[in-house]
Amino acid sequence: MSSILHGGCLCGAVHYRVHGQPFHVTHCHCVSCRKASGAAFVTWFTVRLIELEWLGEKPLFYHSSTAALRGFCPHCGATLSYQHESDPDDIDLTAASLDMPDVLVPEFHIWWQDHISWGEPQQQAVLPVHARSRD
Ligand SMILES: [Zn+2]
Ligand SMILES: [Zn+2]
Repeated sequence: MSSILHGGCLCGAVHYRVHGQPFHVTHCHCVSCRKASGAAFVTWFTVRLIELEWLGEKPLFYHSSTAALRGFCPHCGATLSYQHESDPDDIDLTAASLDMPDVLVPEFHIWWQDHISWGEPQQQAVLPVHARSRD
C-alpha cells in the first residue's frame, strides 16, 4: 500500500494527504453515519491525526454527539472525517473520498445492529449490474 494517500470532497475545495499506514478499514452501519451521509453505510479508515494534512479549504465540523465531531466540505457537503474524544490521537476518513480507494481492503462491519436490510452484502450480490447508468 502507498505510504501517501490523497483524497478530497466532490467539489475539490477540501482535500487531504495522509502519511502513514491506514488501519481499521470499517463499514459502519450506525444511524448517525447513515444520516450524515445519506448512504446505507459509510466505509471509514483510521489514521493518526498527526499523519493527516488538510489541503485547500478546511472542512466544517459538526458535533453529531457531545463526543463526536464530523467533518464535511462547506461547499458540496461531502462527508470526510470523524473524530471521537475517546481517541484524541486518531481520525477516521471516508474511504470513498480517496482518489484511489481500491488500495484499501475493508476488514469488518460495525454497528450491524442498525444495518438496513437492503444494505447487506448478500443483498448487493444478487442485484443486476450495469456498467454505467441503467437505460
Ligand atoms: Zn466540496
Ligand atoms: Zn457510524
